[in-house]
Amino acid sequence: MPVLGRDTQLDSRLAGLDRLAAERRIEVGSDVPIGPLTTLRVGGTADRVVVAETRDELLAALRLARDAEVPAGVLGKGSDLVVADAGIRGLVIRNRAAAIRIDGVTVEADSGTAMAALVKACTSSGLTGIEFGISIPGSVGGAVWANAGAHEGEMRDVIVAVEAWSAETDEVVELTNEDCAFAYRDSRFKSSGEVVLSARLALERGDAAAIAERVRQHQERRRATQPLKDQNAGSVFRNPPGDHAGRLIEAAGLKGHRIGSAQVSTLHANFIVVDRDGWATDVRAVGDHVRHVVADRFGVDLRYEIEFVGAWPSELVVDPSPMAGVS
Ligand SMILES: Cc1cc2nc3c(=O)[nH]c(=O)nc-3n(C[C@H](O)[C@H](O)[C@H](O)COP(=O)(O)OP(=O)(O)OC[C@H]3O[C@@H](n4cnc5c(N)ncnc54)[C@H](O)[C@@H]3O)c2cc1C
Repeated sequence: MPVLGRDTQLDSRLAGLDRLAAERRIEVGSDVPIGPLTTLRVGGTADRVVVAETRDELLAALRLARDAEVPAGVLGKGSDLVVADAGIRGLVIRNRAAAIRIDGVTVEADSGTAMAALVKACTSSGLTGIEFGISIPGSVGGAVWANAGAHEGEMRDVIVAVEAWSAETDEVVELTNEDCAFAYRDSRFKSSGEVVLSARLALERGDAAAIAERVRQHQERRRATQPLKDQNAGSVFRNPPGDHAGRLIEAAGLKGHRIGSAQVSTLHANFIVVDRDGWATDVRAVGDHVRHVVADRFGVDLRYEIEFVGAWPSELVVDPSPMAGVS
């Protein structure tokens, strides 16, 4: 008899994935907690997890999901995600492919490279242009996906080309900066579902001491203005045109507003922080409350910048954005 509430078709596909993984000697974890792999540290387990340590392992994991017809998503550093308390059905591929190749002023980085590691490698090679990345606690792939930016810089300023894989064609393609359709916290990858394998950046030579000083100043500024000691996922809402989400939230008197285990940060109104052992549902409840109050008070419809992934009740999903990968 089928167990109520289970997707039996997915369960049999997961069994198929396990068999295929054994044949291909790919290690697969079952019922793995995903919260600890995100900066917010809330949410449930994923049915299956593969850890990819290299670009080739990342491709192999993506092809495993494609061949087994199991939905799969790529997890970078988990710094932009709220994982549902009910967890994620299917496969999560944890991308730790982190090789960096520097040739003159050209830098190529695997998509699992931490932005901070990339910045450090460039700084010690006397290369300038990517210092802003020190404030982005994500991976290169996640930063390309979001066209992440800080301190007046963003990924589109430095990207020359991106190597990406498409589940539709099973092909690896090289895309130019223009192909990537970068816009404010946006790129083609948010809708195409293609997975970024690596990125090529063009930087400039600079004075090593001056570059290191800029990086230090960026870090100092962030420590003073963001609740970095608390569990958070960065800015919750996009800035509406000509304004700042944080200003609107503060003006609505919502700083410190708490629901259950989550609250609007008292330091930065566009951050939601959550208690240890807290709940993704509370993060969502605080975010939705903020949206309603700001819409009522100022007529502004705040859009989420963070991604809600996994098994959220369908009536809650405002901007459903599946993780890049195989769907
Ligand atoms: C304290 C803090 C400060 C932050 N400050 C900034 C900031 O200043 N500016 C800014 O822009 N952001 C900021 N962020 C948000 C976040 O760091 C960025 O959006 C980052 O680019 C996300 O990368 P990630 O690897 O953590 O992605 P994840 O959170 O792991 O994933 C986010 C999405 O990206 C997709 N993705 C991940 N890797 C790939 C890949 N290889 N190919 C395709 N899709 C992929 C995932 O599938 C998912 O849909 C901040 C976050 C925190 C916690």
